[in-house]
Amino acid sequence: MSLFENTLKQIELAADTMKLDRDVEEVLKHPQREIHVNIPVKMDDGSLRIFEGFRIQHNNYCGPYKGGIRFHPQVDKAEVQALAAWMTIKTSVVGIPLGGGKGGVIVNPKELSEGELERLTRKYIELIALAIGPETDVPAPDVNTTPQIMSWIADEYSKIVGKKSLGVVTGKPVENGGSRGRGSATAQGGVFVLNEYAKENGMEHGETKVVIQGFGNAGGVAAKLLVENGYVVLGASDSQGGIVCTHGIDPNELLTCKIEKESVKNCGLHVEKIHNQDEMTCKMVNNEELLETECDVLILAALENQITAGNADRIKAKVVLELANGPISPEADEILYKKGVVVLPDILANAGGVTVSYFEMLQNADDKYWSKEEVISKLKNIMVDAWNDVKENAKKYDCPLRVAAYITAISRIEEKIKERGGF
Ligand code: NAD
Repeated sequence: MSLFENTLKQIELAADTMKLDRDVEEVLKHPQREIHVNIPVKMDDGSLRIFEGFRIQHNNYCGPYKGGIRFHPQVDKAEVQALAAWMTIKTSVVGIPLGGGKGGVIVNPKELSEGELERLTRKYIELIALAIGPETDVPAPDVNTTPQIMSWIADEYSKIVGKKSLGVVTGKPVENGGSRGRGSATAQGGVFVLNEYAKENGMEHGETKVVIQGFGNAGGVAAKLLVENGYVVLGASDSQGGIVCTHGIDPNELLTCKIEKESVKNCGLHVEKIHNQDEMTCKMVNNEELLETECDVLILAALENQITAGNADRIKAKVVLELANGPISPEADEILYKKGVVVLPDILANAGGVTVSYFEMLQNADDKYWSKEEVISKLKNIMVDAWNDVKENAKKYDCPLRVAAYITAISRIEEKIKERGGF
């Protein structure tokens, strides 16, 4: 099943639960516009390569399309469609006036020189320039796209339209119109949601044990914030493998060690919290073992489809927090729900990133910039309100939090459709 088929299943489940108007359901199941481009790039050796890319504009009833651009060899149209639809739902769950879109280019950026990467980015933007803009569609970073790439996008778009247009993209470096706090916003938003859940469900700080799959931007920052908030991070992994330590790890040391030793799996001895002379307290684990570790909270911060019907039964965590997009398949969702595992769903838990992107748009429009404290405090208000709205719908419809988050979002979109007098 493709990732977009997973999304459609999730929309159908929410639509059935809330008895949604079938026309609204159909509209949400079809992206409004799909752009497919072939991007010619002159390589450093003089050869020409054509890269395939997409910009999918899923829905703009609540505001301009909004969503990142992914550079990855496994990008395909269905993945970008799914990610775009999730953006529509996500912006609406947190109640910000934006729609949903996503971009993707089939490329392994690690194989390109900096010059080739810049030429690819600028050409991709030239090909989609007519369809994007600060009030139309505002891209942002996603997997393998950086603040530097966002700066090239702002520059290329500004050249095309003949005026400085920083607001065409978010996730820019702070010195070039970016928002303070954007780099940590996704993890921070997820931690705010987890804190609310923990508070309401008697999970004691100092005793709540967390395991993190994916020690990149979202997962690595989450580990630091969690330890600052009194959680114990037992283990973490990256694409090469992971470690689990009986007494927990120090995330700052793990980040430093990962850079030096390439993978967290090589960092056991360096990061164990309590060094035990007689006993090695850290062990190397593979991806499967990490996911199945006994813990209170499992954080998924790597890729799609990590918990499926094949392994859902073996998950031992009480709570799963999704910082990645789409890491649990619909079949696995059902298995986890029946087992009593609570899933804090991606469309709520990782919405901190797009929320601070929205703050960046506001700051660019005003040309006034906020302090990090102001950003974090505004983010907290939005995340806590969204959590309360989702929780209320979960109670009202007696359904899992993911379905409740969809219902929260879709009700708001339906309202907008009524306001504008139809489709
Ligand atoms: P990233 O590239 O910085 O980090 C991903 C990490 O996952 C890397 O450490 C990588 O080695 C690891 N990984 C890859 N395959 C793995 C596997 N099989 N097992 C364990 N680890 C594996 O990317 P990121 O920005 O942290 O994004 C991670 C996820 O979060 C993606 O799904 C992304 O769409 C989602 N997300 C990110 C943001 C954001 O602001 N960064 C916002 C919303 C959603």
